[in-house]
Amino acid sequence: NYAGFYSESKGTINGAPSSKIFINNEWHSAAKGTKFQTCDPATGVKICDVDEAGEVDVDRAVEAARAAGQRGSPWRRMDVSSRGRLLSKLAELLERDRVLLATMETMDTGKPFLQSFFVDLEGSIKTLRYYAGWADKIHGKTMPVDENFMCFTKHEPIGVCGAIIPWNFPLLMFTWKIAPALCCGNTVVIKPAEQTPLTALHVGALVKEAGFPPGVVNILPGFGPTAGAAIARHMGIDKVAFTGSTQVGQLIKEAAAKSNLKRVTLELGGKNPCIVFADSDLQLAVEEAQKGAFYNQGQCCTAASRVFVEDEIYDKFVRLSVESANRVVTGDPMDPRTSHGPQINQKQFDKIMDLIGSGEKEGAKLECGGFAVGDRSLFIQPTVFSDVKDHMRIAKEEIFGPVQCILRFKSQEEVIERANSTHYGLAAAVFTRDVDRALSVSAALESGTVWVNCYNALHAQAPFGGYKMSGNGRELGEYALAEYSEVKTVTIKLAEKP
Ligand code: NAD
Repeated sequence: NYAGFYSESKGTINGAPSSKIFINNEWHSAAKGTKFQTCDPATGVKICDVDEAGEVDVDRAVEAARAAGQRGSPWRRMDVSSRGRLLSKLAELLERDRVLLATMETMDTGKPFLQSFFVDLEGSIKTLRYYAGWADKIHGKTMPVDENFMCFTKHEPIGVCGAIIPWNFPLLMFTWKIAPALCCGNTVVIKPAEQTPLTALHVGALVKEAGFPPGVVNILPGFGPTAGAAIARHMGIDKVAFTGSTQVGQLIKEAAAKSNLKRVTLELGGKNPCIVFADSDLQLAVEEAQKGAFYNQGQCCTAASRVFVEDEIYDKFVRLSVESANRVVTGDPMDPRTSHGPQINQKQFDKIMDLIGSGEKEGAKLECGGFAVGDRSLFIQPTVFSDVKDHMRIAKEEIFGPVQCILRFKSQEEVIERANSTHYGLAAAVFTRDVDRALSVSAALESGTVWVNCYNALHAQAPFGGYKMSGNGRELGEYALAEYSEVKTVTIKLAEKP
């Protein structure tokens, strides 16, 4: 029952008009007057209607963002330390509204409440704080150059930064995009995923409350082929950052190339290898590999979707993994005992069930799970396959569901070769007690992140991004600053050689 939370007559959520489009620190109805529903995947019940941004709304948002970022504007003239204080203030407001935001996130995505509260909210708040600290520490260099010149660089904002984000970590992806962009002095036009617009819109209200000037952050709930595509090809947008499928990532880069060659950063899919050597701490490896496979209902670009286990410990590893999978508590995501919720929607559910079917058909051994929980629900029982072979679809395609695929290997050289034989290169993990082995295997893996004896260990301070078709550029850490700045070289002719 969402009454009391959403008012149909007033169009308000928790008393704020945050089911509308947020431009210039104001709430707007869609230019075309259309709305779309956002539903709770755990129940299938509509939460509320949200205004649907289209091309005209994107144009208005870009106009607002350009005006907010122009020379002489309050945002451009603001002291860099004040910019940092605004980001800190926004972090404080997220902290204040943490229970509400975690509740909204769970309603909109179906992820267990405690995970929303302790992971998504924690990560979002820490990201804002981390970049708040950078705002007055972004600077260039002075270079000794030949002849009678002085030469220095300045790091300037790129301008209007577009962002298109997915539904698996709606608030976290929102802050991963806006925090570095704002810290570097840019303005933002961001489109949350159509499945999960609510937390982003609530943060719109907090952006205004924190005191960001109008037009600095603009939020456009809407669909990919309309609002998303309008962002990707917009001549008034200087950079676009995207997280989502590889297929759409290619469309974004194409649209950027064909329009104004806007800068593009992409965080796309993965088919991430998790390598468990016989000398590893077995219990730890079982737990972490399974966390990697099932966390967020398996809807993670970093999901441990190919677990390679050394021959000697293979059978024991499979047995312990099945026991662990059977202990996962599936149920109401609002119940603090629940560790596993529903998939996001029917399309994803069907895709996962199809891949599970293909695994059985192609001869993998279904050890547990493999079926839906309940008749008309989006819950899938955590699933473990053993005897998975490299040529099978479940070993090659991104499943984005709670399906663990366990493969067998005999030698280090062989497993490195097999781990790397994919177009993806987002994350990988190695479990071993041998430091030399951990270092040589992590050096050989073609992957933007390598975790040693851990999984999904992400930090605001450390860069994240993909090799190969898993993406372009890096988010988080100091590295992300380069993705949101232009470098200007200033060279001055001197009368004398200094
Ligand atoms: P998607 O790539 O279609 O959606 C991600 C975002 O892109 C959403 O905001 C969507 O509205 C937008 N979008 C869609 N089409 C667009 C277009 N033509 N132009 C501009 N923007 C567009 O992902 P999906 O359909 O929701 O999921 C499909 C698959 O993508 C999943 O099964 C999974 O494999 C992958 N995925 C990856 C991530 C990730 O974190 N890397 C997140 C979600 C989905």
